[in-house]
Amino acid sequence: MRLKDKVAIITGAASGIGKAAAIIFAREGAKIVAADIDMEGCNKAVESIKAEGGEALSLHIDVSQAGHVKKMVNLAVSTYKKIDILINNAGIFITQCRVGDVEEEQFEKTFAVNVRGQFLCAKYCLPEMIKNGSGSIVCTASMSGIVGQRATGIYNASKASSILLAKNIALDYAEYKIRANCICPGYVDDTKINEEIFKEARKDGHKWDEIVGMHPLGRVGTPEDMAYGALYLASDEASFVTGTTLVIDGGLTAV
Ligand code: NAD
Repeated sequence: MRLKDKVAIITGAASGIGKAAAIIFAREGAKIVAADIDMEGCNKAVESIKAEGGEALSLHIDVSQAGHVKKMVNLAVSTYKKIDILINNAGIFITQCRVGDVEEEQFEKTFAVNVRGQFLCAKYCLPEMIKNGSGSIVCTASMSGIVGQRATGIYNASKASSILLAKNIALDYAEYKIRANCICPGYVDDTKINEEIFKEARKDGHKWDEIVGMHPLGRVGTPEDMAYGALYLASDEASFVTGTTLVIDGGLTAV
């Protein structure tokens, strides 16, 4: 088992990439704190883990609220005694328009969840990792944090922030053997974020072909594709890997 006896907090664990990571990490021996604003989804993820004989608990959390994040850290430590891994994954995409058409409230909301949320989770997990003398933080950024795209509002700017947040944590905490890295997914199927966009695109075969065609490997990603990348970065196999971004996009940004 690649994560035997590790304790992993996974935000956004109710759906998509976070849910896949929670299930796969548990199979690899980790005890999971599955955190999300969607309790129903989170409870289902935890039930799946328990049904396979794994250990997990679910927690309602809004990652943009410091009080919620502190509660999550306290619960993880009081239940499982330590925090080895933070999968900083909860995120939203709410602006399909040009930058100038993004409402100020949408900007604030996007950065509150995608950037402040990842900052708060890291901030309050780091002291526990320092106590342990080790830790691994994996931020879910995006290929949208590497390249510009038309009409994705300020989502790309938030994901670029996530990449640099991980790099700075990597530098600031290397002396404590705490590593921080990012995964950068391409388009991922079976996620709430893409549910509507993919549904509409699939109805209009041409649009779907366009999305698939952006990926040289000829398909969109699965949540599991992303979770396995996060698993590598979270595990001791990556003990010499910090401050990097693992792009998992079927070659989309290699063009
Ligand atoms: P998803 O919508 O299925 O999962 C995101 C989860 O985050 C949901 O369960 C949602 O309830 C939760 N969440 C949203 N706001 C929250 C908050 N304030 N506090 C706690 N939880 C909150 O989509 P996903 O694709 O699995 O998203 C995971 C991450 O992957 C996100 O950061 C997203 O930006 C990133 N990403 C997704 C894609 C894609 O194509 N789906 C591509 C690149 C990056």
